[in-house]
Amino acid sequence: MSDIETQSSASTPNDSAFSSVGTGPIGGATPVKPRRVVIIGAGLSGLTAAYELQEKANAAGVPIELTVLESRSRIGGAIWTERIDGFLCEGGADSFITNKPWALELCKRLGLGDSIIGTDDKHRRSFVLRKGELLPVPDGFVLMAPNRVWPILTSPILSWKGKLRLMLEPFMPRGDANADESLASFVRRRLGVEALERLVQPLVGGIYTADPKELSLKSTMPQFVEMEQKYGSLLRASLFRRRSGNDIEKHSSGARYGLFATLREGMGKLPEALAAALPPGTIRLSAPVRRVMRDRSGQARWCVDLLSGEQILADAVVLSTEAHAAARLLDEQDADLATLLRSIPYASSAIALVGYHRSDIRHPLNGFGVVHPAIENRKTLAISFTSVKLPSRAPKGKVLLRVFVGGATQPELFDLSDEAIERIVLDEVRDLLGAEAPPILYRLARHARAMPQYTIGHADRIGRISERLGTHEGLSLASNALGGVGVPDVVRTAQLAAASAFESLGAAKPGH
Ligand SMILES: Cc1cc2nc3c(=O)[nH]c(=O)nc-3n(C[C@H](O)[C@H](O)[C@H](O)COP(=O)(O)OP(=O)(O)OC[C@H]3O[C@@H](n4cnc5c(N)ncnc54)[C@H](O)[C@@H]3O)c2cc1C
Repeated sequence: MSDIETQSSASTPNDSAFSSVGTGPIGGATPVKPRRVVIIGAGLSGLTAAYELQEKANAAGVPIELTVLESRSRIGGAIWTERIDGFLCEGGADSFITNKPWALELCKRLGLGDSIIGTDDKHRRSFVLRKGELLPVPDGFVLMAPNRVWPILTSPILSWKGKLRLMLEPFMPRGDANADESLASFVRRRLGVEALERLVQPLVGGIYTADPKELSLKSTMPQFVEMEQKYGSLLRASLFRRRSGNDIEKHSSGARYGLFATLREGMGKLPEALAAALPPGTIRLSAPVRRVMRDRSGQARWCVDLLSGEQILADAVVLSTEAHAAARLLDEQDADLATLLRSIPYASSAIALVGYHRSDIRHPLNGFGVVHPAIENRKTLAISFTSVKLPSRAPKGKVLLRVFVGGATQPELFDLSDEAIERIVLDEVRDLLGAEAPPILYRLARHARAMPQYTIGHADRIGRISERLGTHEGLSLASNALGGVGVPDVVRTAQLAAASAFESLGAAKPGH
């Protein structure tokens, strides 16, 4: 995979840190030196935070000097798009839900409104594997709440015993609203073991590349806790919402297939547009940060030490790395905060992008993809039929698949060599979809420790992290480990971090 280079390393020498002069409300008519803000990480969180900070500063007439430091040689983090031989390949996120408005709104503000496209409704359904066979997910089964009874009763995915147990759901007692229950325990309790193993685990687990036994329901899908508490039953709540035109699907937080939008030129356009909206030279690539410490010289609040030995002084710092990376940066400044950040587990996963001539695949590919329940003992988690979902992703007569490997349930597979993963991927595509010839495109995108796991105790952990952060004036955190992993939530969390960083500048001593 070649890296996407965008804005690169116009240098930001240490000695010029407070040198440019501007005027603004903070200094009144007196020229004031701009406030320096350093953002660490140029993934979606860091770039959104940088953009929002710049927008806020412009609106308030406050001069700021932004620097975004990124260790890799490309921007985007878990988002990256590459065009290869006419295929549009997404190595990471490929779309986002539209029922949370923040990503859509941001795209529009960046002038990308005309680029937003929806998924192709023609084959809007997904499959779940059962004994090696691809069976459609029953109509109206959204994540873990059925809003129609008949499709469940007629689906071959569950046995009669499993269906009967699921239909008893309205008679199951409410759980404790204050408990931090695992997603698996909740589903087992309400819908039964079979619905968990055959439907919910592959559908929901796939979103977080997670093990539902570990996931905290209230931190990942609080709407289901609310449904249970308010209606006493998921089935009753879903039927009620459907009848009142307030379908749960419109309120769900990230089913892999459905209600999704993306950008015509690929998700990579979003970080690119954010970067392009920043002053030239703001982003420095291949600039890994080693440490973030309070400045003891009295010139600024924070010292940002790069691995190169360079030091940048800053009035505010936004940490936009993975939580484990942020922990490393803060070890010397605040060991307790670092420990809390480090206690958020992460999963690694890989996405194989595989292209074929359409005529070389036997399966009709009449859906958006297939998810594999763990009990099927497959070595891949899911296969997305990307060019069915988004026809523009492959040239005419060809298909593009995305095959997911690893995650929290099969970490050992992520550690295999690229060649071993390729063999697994091609074997499974051949076996499940009847690929009769070798692929015409193959690329592997690895995401090492990129997906935070919102495990039991997550809300509590985040509460303690934000308490601890509150003791460090000018230090903010923007990360997918905090307020949701999906693109809209990440945008929202970064906007909040930018607001807090900007607010902290008001308290900073102007013109050091
Ligand atoms: C495989 C995968 C598929 C996904 N698919 C979807 C999807 O389809 N839809 C959806 O809504 N969401 C999806 N997500 C989630 C979403 O894409 C991510 O949550 C989001 O992009 C994360 O952005 P981030 O900036 O918080 O983190 P990251 O993208 O991880 O960015 C962190 C950045 O910090 C940098 N960094 C780390 N340490 C340092 C350091 N010391 N110095 C400088 N820089 C540093 C890293 O290099 C990286 O660029 C997916 C995530 C993954 C991993």
